[in-house]
Amino acid sequence: MTDISNPLHTCPFCSADNQGIAFASSESFLALYNIAPVFPGHSLIIPKAHVKSLRSLSDDHVSELFLFARKVTDVLLTYYASDAFNWSLQDNEPAGQTIAHLHLHIIIRQKNDLPEAGDWYQLLDNHNSIESFNRPRLSRDEYADIASKLKAAFDRSNK
Ligand SMILES: [Zn+2]
Repeated sequence: MTDISNPLHTCPFCSADNQGIAFASSESFLALYNIAPVFPGHSLIIPKAHVKSLRSLSDDHVSELFLFARKVTDVLLTYYASDAFNWSLQDNEPAGQTIAHLHLHIIIRQKNDLPEAGDWYQLLDNHNSIESFNRPRLSRDEYADIASKLKAAFDRSNK
């Protein structure tokens, strides 16, 4: 994966502790819980490398991304007792990408969680990143608690 030179100091997804806060990983991707979730379970799949666009991934990495995302989604659906989800990926600024590091949103849905099922995107748009200040952010302790429970759920699912 080669896209852009290493922006360790500016990209929130490249910060050194991302390896530590991920609740699941594949060879080249991480699953992170969203610090400001739209709904409980809202998570992100990101490449470990700083890659901006899905279009920069090799076929093998696209395959790995989607297989890993499906596995993580399965774990989240079980954990949150749901069978409904949205995936969303904003690729490039005109599409609403605010962090230049590819990230796939996984939004776990519940029956009647919104008056109109399609209204979720507006919520997402209002807090498009882990750096969002538009939605309540989890405290460090809340975040660590959820991440460790999801990590345990993911590890159990791999047995
Ligand atoms: Zn990055």
